[in-house]
Amino acid sequence: MLDCIFCKIVKKEISANIVYEDADFVAFLDIHPQSPGHTLVIPKKHYRWVWDVPNAGVYFEVVKKVAEAQRKAFNTDWILSKVVGEDVPHAHIWIFPNDKVKGDKMDFEGNKKKIIENI
Ligand SMILES: [Zn+2]
Repeated sequence: MLDCIFCKIVKKEISANIVYEDADFVAFLDIHPQSPGHTLVIPKKHYRWVWDVPNAGVYFEVVKKVAEAQRKAFNTDWILSKVVGEDVPHAHIWIFPNDKVKGDKMDFEGNKKKIIENI
């Protein structure tokens, strides 16, 4: 979709801190993180809502994979997830460690590295 910021991230027209990518999905750090390692998981194909994504089971497996990496990376078992969908009109699921974890949420390079190492 033209002018969709997430489609541009998928096409690498806009750079993002990508922590996971496969044929259908990509996960990258949120630029306005609520906690260290706050990640968005999106389908590569443009869908308006999470509930429009046809392979939802596979989608959730990717979310789980990143959440488990966050658990190890930030030494916590409490990972929050959120589906709102109002801010950017491209399906996305937020997953982020609770705000008690140690670390600087603005250290994108460091947090990206920690998640990738644990995937
Ligand atoms: Zn899009």
